Amino acid sequence: MRDKINSIQIQAENDLSDCSTIEDIENLRVKFLGKKGQITLLYQNIKDVAPEDRPQMGQFINDLKQKITSAIVNVKDRIEKNILQKRLEQEAIDVTLPGRSSGFGKIHPLAKTMRSVIKIFQSIGFSVAQGPEVETEYYNFDALNIPSYHPARDMQDTFFLENGKLLRTHTSPVQIRVMENRTPPVRIIAPGRVYRNEAINARSYCLFHQVEGFYVDSSVTFSELKGVLGYFAKELFGEDSKIRIRPSFFPFTEPSLECDVSCFLCSGKGCRVCKKTGWLEILGAGMIHPAVLRSVGYDSSQVQGYAFGMGIERITMLLYGINDIRLFFENDLRFLSQF
Ligand SMILES: [Zn+2]
Repeated sequence: MRDKINSIQIQAENDLSDCSTIEDIENLRVKFLGKKGQITLLYQNIKDVAPEDRPQMGQFINDLKQKITSAIVNVKDRIEKNILQKRLEQEAIDVTLPGRSSGFGKIHPLAKTMRSVIKIFQSIGFSVAQGPEVETEYYNFDALNIPSYHPARDMQDTFFLENGKLLRTHTSPVQIRVMENRTPPVRIIAPGRVYRNEAINARSYCLFHQVEGFYVDSSVTFSELKGVLGYFAKELFGEDSKIRIRPSFFPFTEPSLECDVSCFLCSGKGCRVCKKTGWLEILGAGMIHPAVLRSVGYDSSQVQGYAFGMGIERITMLLYGINDIRLFFENDLRFLSQF
């Protein structure tokens, strides 16, 4: 019995020195102290010892159990400290390293211009309306007095879809949709994305953004339109801006006009951007054609209105001196972070 106890003690010491993980320690504990462990078996075998020697043997086994138990605690403690030490080393933070900046997002230049334009018109009583980008020929053309033989209806200029619908070529369909559902007075601006089947180059792109505006009431005059456009030019391009209007033609307005603003780069003296004229073309406008008013069920002898539309890309290019429209859609951070 005495020899057995000694050999278990030696074996336990050897096994303990081999332990390197928490799992090893647990296996060792089961091997010696578990229900069928070697120490437990010693207690069971004590009945085979001569009765007068049993107390002493019991004492030996108790001592051995005590030794193994405390050795297990010590080794386990050492292994846990090692694991913690390794983790601390792996997860160490070097507080002397410079921080990693996450950077600030910027508002896209087109969104910036769009917001400015909307804000200016909201300040004089216009409210914002929106409409679908996939339109019918009726809303995009017919209701706007654009007849079927008009070149804008050509396959070359419009993206027609397989279901007979099309991608709107301007924001003017919103005008029709709003007027169909409301009675005058209506004073609306309709910002949005439009599509043209054009060759892509520095000056034109297959999609761009427009802001359409219109006002219909019982006594709307051409001079009011002129006043609104003049106010808009001063708010967006600066207090010294002047406007100039020239006769033009659009199917949905009569009379129609093109509105120029005095070149804010050269103060009207003439430069490369305004092609030495001192003026920049910024929008088209006019009095809403009576046929358009009739198409939505208005009495064109009782109400009149004006409408205007502008391209956000063109205005943004002028404001920031951007010479290629494609830059807006390439999402190059070197470009976008400048705004
Ligand atoms: Zn100029």
